[in-house]
Amino acid sequence: MKADNSRCLLDARHLPKTWYEIRADLPAPAPSLLHPGTLEPLGVDALSQVFSPSLAKQEVSIEREVEIPEPVRKLYALWRPTPLVRARRLEAALDTPARIYFKAESASPTGSHKTNSGLAQAFYAKQDGLKRITTETGGGQWGASLAYGGAQFGVDVDIFMVRVSYQQKPYRRGQMEVYGARCVPSPSETTEAGRAILAQNPHHPGSLGVAVSEALELAAKGEKTRYCLGSVLNYVILHQTVIGQEAMAQMALVEDYPDIVIGCAGGGSNFSGLAFPFLGKALREKLRTRFVAVEPLACPSLTRGTYGYDFGDVAGMTPLLKMHTLGSTFTPPSFHAGGLRYHGMAPLVSHVYALGLLEAVAVSQIPSLEAGIQFARTEGIVPAPESCHAIRAAIDEALVCKREGKAKTILFNLSGHGHFDMQVYMDFLTGKLQDEPLDEAHLKEAMGRLPNAGC
Ligand SMILES: *Cc1c(COP(=O)(O)O)cnc(C)c1O
Repeated sequence: MKADNSRCLLDARHLPKTWYEIRADLPAPAPSLLHPGTLEPLGVDALSQVFSPSLAKQEVSIEREVEIPEPVRKLYALWRPTPLVRARRLEAALDTPARIYFKAESASPTGSHKTNSGLAQAFYAKQDGLKRITTETGGGQWGASLAYGGAQFGVDVDIFMVRVSYQQKPYRRGQMEVYGARCVPSPSETTEAGRAILAQNPHHPGSLGVAVSEALELAAKGEKTRYCLGSVLNYVILHQTVIGQEAMAQMALVEDYPDIVIGCAGGGSNFSGLAFPFLGKALREKLRTRFVAVEPLACPSLTRGTYGYDFGDVAGMTPLLKMHTLGSTFTPPSFHAGGLRYHGMAPLVSHVYALGLLEAVAVSQIPSLEAGIQFARTEGIVPAPESCHAIRAAIDEALVCKREGKAKTILFNLSGHGHFDMQVYMDFLTGKLQDEPLDEAHLKEAMGRLPNAGC
C-alpha cells in the first residue's frame, strides 16, 4: 500500500546537485540554432554575442549532468524541494480510482517555476561580468523571477512586458519594481522595433514575439548587456529539470510512479522540466510512461503549427529555431493565460514531439478555469491560469480512469499560483469571460510567412 501522507516532502539534502540534459539520452540529435543569413549552425561564440557566455555554452552542450552552482543551489534550498502533493480531495470530488499528484512550483518566492531559471541566469550574468540583462515577460512571472535573480546577484534588469498583461496585471509590474527592475509595456516607444509596430497599430496588444524583439534590441545596444529568455531555449529547460528530478525522488518515497505526466506548455519549459527526467528514465528503461503537453486552443503551436525553422520574435532578430510554430508574426487573441501566448514551442519539446515521444492536447480557456476552480475548492491553492490547462487535462485523464475503472497514477505540474490573476477569476465568476476564437485567416497568413531555411 502507498504511504498515507499527502505531502511528500524531502529536505534540502535531497535537492539535486545537477541539472539533467535530455539530449544525452535522445535517439536522434536535436537540430541546432541557425544563423538566419548563412543558415549555418550557431556555435558558442556567436551565441555569446546575444546571451551570457555561460548560458551559450549550456545551449549547445549535451553533457548529461550539469552541476548546479553552489550559490544557486543555496537559494533553491530556501523553498526547494517543492512539495509533491497527493490531491486526495480532488480525487474524492471526481470519484476517480486514479491517484493524482501535483508538484507545487507555486511555492517559489515569486510564485512559479520560472524562478528556477531566473536565479541561474542572473548568477551566470554576474559571473560573466555583465552589468545588465534584458528580457520580455508575458504574464509577468518570468519578469518577476529574473528581477528577483537580479536583486540576489547584483545585476540590473530591464523588462518589456506584453501590453495586455501590463494592463491586466499591474501588481506583477509592481512586484518587478519592488525587486528593483525596470518594466515597460511592449510595444514601447523606447526601441525601433516597438516604434515600428506602434506606427502600424497604436493599439497593438503586444505579444511575446514583439517583446523579445525589443529586449534583444536593447541588449544589442547596451554595454556589458545581454539578453535573457524565460523559456523555449535548451538552457532554460535544463534549469527546470530540478522539478522532475525531485518529483522522481518524492514518488519513490511514497512507492508510486506516474503512468501519465502532464504539464501546460507555452514555451515548453515547465512541462519539460517535470517530464524530461521521467522521459530519460523511460527511454533508458523502456517504460511506457505517457507525457502530455497541454496548450491553449487559442495559441496551439504543437497541435496546429508547422514544424520548421522560424524566428523566435516578430522582427526576425533571433537565430532560426526549428520548432512547431504558428509563425513569428502571429498575434494570439488576448486570452488571459499570458504565459501561454507564444507563437512557437521549444525546439527541444518540438523535436521530442516529432520523435513521437510525447502527446499534445489543446484546451480552451473556460474549461481550464472551471478545472482551476474545482482544484482551488478542493486542494486550496488558486492556480495560475496557465496551470489550469494542466489541471484540465489531469482531471480529464482521471475521468477516463473512472469510466474505465482503472487506477492510474497521474502527475501534473502546478507551474504557479494565481494570486496576481484574481481579475481573471472574478471576470469568469461574473460571466464576463468568453473564449475568443482563433482568427483562422490571421493564422493562415502568419504560417504562410515562415522564413525559407531550405529545409
Ligand atoms: C510562463 C509560465 C508558463 C508557460 O511557460 P512554459 O515555458 O511553457 O512553462 C506556465 N505556467 C506558469 C505559471 C508560467 O509562469
